[in-house]
Amino acid sequence: MSSRYVIAGVPAARGMTLGRARLVEPGQINIDERPLTEREIEPEVVHLRDALAHAREELNLLREKLHGALAREVGEFIDAHGMILDDPELTSGLFDLIRRGRYRASAALKMQRDRLAAVFDAIDDPYLRSRREDIDHVIGRVQAALARDTTPAERQIASRVGSILVGDSFAPAELAHLTEHGILGVITTGGSALSHSSILARSMRLPMIVGAHDALKRINDDDLLLLDAGAGDVIVHPTAQDLARYRNFQRDQARNAEQLSRLKHERTRTSDGVEIQLFANAELLPDIAQARSCGAAGVGLYRTEFLFLQRNELPSEDEQYAAYRDIVLAMGGAPVTIRTLDLGADKADGTGLALRKEPNPALGVRGVRLAMRYPAVFMTQMRAILRASSYGHVRVLVPMVTTGEEIAVVRALMLECARDLRSSGHEIADHFELGAMIEVPAAAIALPGMIKQLDFISIGTNDLTQYTLAVDRNNDALSTLYDPLHPAVLKLLSQIIAVAARAKKSVTLCGEMAGDTRYTALLLALGLTEFSMHPGSLLEIRQAIAGCDRGKLLGQAKALLRAQSRAAIERVLEKMR
Ligand code: PEP
Ligand code: MG
Repeated sequence: MSSRYVIAGVPAARGMTLGRARLVEPGQINIDERPLTEREIEPEVVHLRDALAHAREELNLLREKLHGALAREVGEFIDAHGMILDDPELTSGLFDLIRRGRYRASAALKMQRDRLAAVFDAIDDPYLRSRREDIDHVIGRVQAALARDTTPAERQIASRVGSILVGDSFAPAELAHLTEHGILGVITTGGSALSHSSILARSMRLPMIVGAHDALKRINDDDLLLLDAGAGDVIVHPTAQDLARYRNFQRDQARNAEQLSRLKHERTRTSDGVEIQLFANAELLPDIAQARSCGAAGVGLYRTEFLFLQRNELPSEDEQYAAYRDIVLAMGGAPVTIRTLDLGADKADGTGLALRKEPNPALGVRGVRLAMRYPAVFMTQMRAILRASSYGHVRVLVPMVTTGEEIAVVRALMLECARDLRSSGHEIADHFELGAMIEVPAAAIALPGMIKQLDFISIGTNDLTQYTLAVDRNNDALSTLYDPLHPAVLKLLSQIIAVAARAKKSVTLCGEMAGDTRYTALLLALGLTEFSMHPGSLLEIRQAIAGCDRGKLLGQAKALLRAQSRAAIERVLEKMR
C-alpha cells in the first residue's frame, strides 16, 4: 500500500473529486525501457492492439455524447484524433518497433511520438506545426489505455473512476476539449484562479486547483487522487478516512443543493426588503439552462471568446448569429449582454486570428483595441449580435475600454452595421444598448466624462484589480498581491458605482467577486444592486443577500473606504457580519 501525502495548491474551481491521475506531459509518462524477451513480443502486440482499440472506442463514445455549443468544434478535434489513430503509418510503425525493435508498447509509442514531433517541429507553417499537439493527445490517450490494464490493487479502484488531469497549464480550448473526454478534475503546477481556464473550469463545474508546484514531480500516472479543490489541495493515495470524508462531502453537497434549490423561484431581496438583480455569466449553453432554472434576471456577461477558440478559421457571421440567437431565445426575453471579442496575443493561439506576438499581451492589442485594428472582424461580430437582437433583449458590451474615443468609434460602427442590415432587409431591434466594461483604472477614473456616451456599464473586477495593482492575474507567484480588497480597488469600485447612480445608468459587477459570498456584504455596502456571476453561484449569493440588511451596510461604507489597509478593511467587514 502506497503512503498518503498531500500536495498544496490554490483553489480555482470548487468541488471534491476522486480519480486516477493522468499526467499531461508526454515526457513525464513512466516508460518501461527494458527490451522485450522473445516470449513477451506477441502478448505485447496484443496489449497495444487492445489499447488502440480502447482509445478508438473512447473517441467514438465521446463523439456520440457530444451536444451543445461546443459540439461542432470539439467534434472536429475528435475526428482529427480518430484519423491519427487510424493512420496505418502510425500503427504499423508501432508494431514494427515491438516486433523488430523489441520495444515495449509504451516505449514504442514514445519513440513514434518523438519522431513525429521532430517532423512537425521542422514544418514552417505555424498551423501545421501546432497539429503536433494532436499527436501528443492521441499518443497520451493510447498510453493511458495501455497503463489501465497494468495495474496493481490500487489501480483497480482507480480504474472504476475517471481521470484527474495533472499538467503545467491548460489553455481554455484544451480544457474544453479534454473535459469532453470525461475528465473529473484538473491540477496545474502554474496558472491562477483568475485565468480564463479557471473561469471555464468553474463554468463546467470541474474541480480545479492551480499553483500545485510539485504536482508533476510527485504524482505518477494512475495514482489514486482525492482532489479537494475547495481546500486547494490534493491527497495522493487517500486513506479509508479520506474516502469517508469524500462520501460525507458528497452527502453534504446533495443536502446543500436541495436547500438551495428551494430558493430557485424566490426573488432576490435583502433582509430589509430591497430588490437586487442577479444576472448570469455564461460561456456555454448549459450555463444558460442553469441560469434560467435558478431564476437569473438575464445574462450579464456572455464571453464570446469561446466561440472563437478550438478552430483555425474565424466563425462566420451566420454561425455567430445562430449562437447568439439561441442564447437570446433560451433566455425568453430577459436581457442578454453579449460582450464583443476579448482576445489578445496571449489567447489568440488556437483561433483563426493570427495576432503578432507581443512582449506584454495584457497591456497590448486586446479587447476593444483589437476591434479598432480589425474592424472587419468586429463588424462581422456586431452584425451577428444585431441580427440576434430581433429575438429578444440584447445589450452590447465592449471590453477593455480606456477612452471616450473608443466608445464613439464603436457606436459609429454599430450604427453603420444597423443601417446596412436594415437596408438589406434584416429584422433587427429598434434600439440597442451599448455598454463598456470598466476594467481599466483610466476608464474608472475618467468615467464621469464618459458615462453619457454609454447606456450601461459593467465592472470587470478581475482586470480592474490586475491593472490597478499592476499584478498579473495569471501569475501565481503574485497571487498574494492580487487582492480585490486593496483600498485602491475599493475606492475605485465605490466611485464607479456612485458615478453610474448619479447618471442613472445601470451598473453590474461581473468579475469573480460578484459570485463570491465573501464579498456580498461589501458590494452591497458600496451600493451595488446588480451582480453577474456564474449561474452555479447564483443561489448561494441569493441566500447571502437575504441575510444582509442593506440599509445598515450602506451606513458602513464610509468606514470601509476610510480603512487604510487590508487588515483594517477586514475589521470593518467582520463588523458587517
Ligand atoms: C473581468 O475582467 O472582471 C471580467 C469579467 O472579464 P474577464 O474575466 O473575461 O477578463
Ligand atoms: Mg476582463
